[in-house]
Amino acid sequence: MVAAQLKKANAGLSIGLIEPAETHYYQPAWTLVGANAYPYEKTARPMASLIPKGVDWIKEYAEQFEPDNNAIKTKEGNTYTYDYLVAALGIKLDPSLIEGLPQALDKGVVCSNYTDPKHTWHVLQNFKGGNAVFTQPTTPIKCGGAPQKICYLASDYFRKEGILDKTNVVFATPGTVIFGVPQVAKTLMKVIHRYGIHFKPFYAPVKIDAEKREVTFKSVNPEENNCLVN
Ligand SMILES: Cc1cc2nc3c(=O)[nH]c(=O)nc-3n(C[C@H](O)[C@H](O)[C@H](O)COP(=O)(O)OP(=O)(O)OC[C@H]3O[C@@H](n4cnc5c(N)ncnc54)[C@H](O)[C@@H]3O)c2cc1C
Repeated sequence: MVAAQLKKANAGLSIGLIEPAETHYYQPAWTLVGANAYPYEKTARPMASLIPKGVDWIKEYAEQFEPDNNAIKTKEGNTYTYDYLVAALGIKLDPSLIEGLPQALDKGVVCSNYTDPKHTWHVLQNFKGGNAVFTQPTTPIKCGGAPQKICYLASDYFRKEGILDKTNVVFATPGTVIFGVPQVAKTLMKVIHRYGIHFKPFYAPVKIDAEKREVTFKSVNPEENNCLVN
């Protein structure tokens, strides 16, 4: 997007784009994939089709910044110099920050739209009632709204399947409110009440025991520091 905007502003600019991936995924649609509202295949596009015209695609992996020399070294062993550099590497997921999550993720009943939205849909289809816990970590995440969006979509699916009455949908978040903008929060709280979702602010997930199907939260309420709850 930055390269396209720069070219639009000045077609004469010489721009190189260091990007190793063959495929680009439109990740915002993964929330919908998790609830079977959009096909996963349609979220993937060849990277080549998205490189703006007149931009040189350098299909390599940036490995080292050399700011003193205005240079970037790549894994492939090449060095590229620049007048200006835009670093846009995205967020790297680190499940290891929650105990037990690397072992549990994308298997059995533990799913994440950040990693495998097709597995989320598989889990939803197999769910026949009980506790459905949706949560998010204390770290920055790719999309602030994604964890609650799948919670609402899943609740609606449970309603359509006629199992919402025998389900406790829990949305547990380290945040203090459902959304930072009061007007939006007001509407979202209506959605929460419509589906009977148990909204748990100040809940930070710290441990997942996939075998016991148990998730442990730490309270991040300043008034209840270090209080462990199951
Ligand atoms: C489930 C989900 C739902 C979302 N919903 C929304 C939404 O509703 N609204 C919204 O605005 N956003 C949403 N997002 C977030 C949105 O997808 C991200 O904000 C966006 O993808 C971030 O773009 P990015 O270019 O910073 O990172 P990315 O899309 O992650 O791209 C980073 C790129 O950098 C490349 N790269 C990484 N390391 C290197 C390296 N060393 N050398 C060279 N290249 C490298 C990668 O190959 C990749 O192509 C969602 C994300 C997810 C996962």
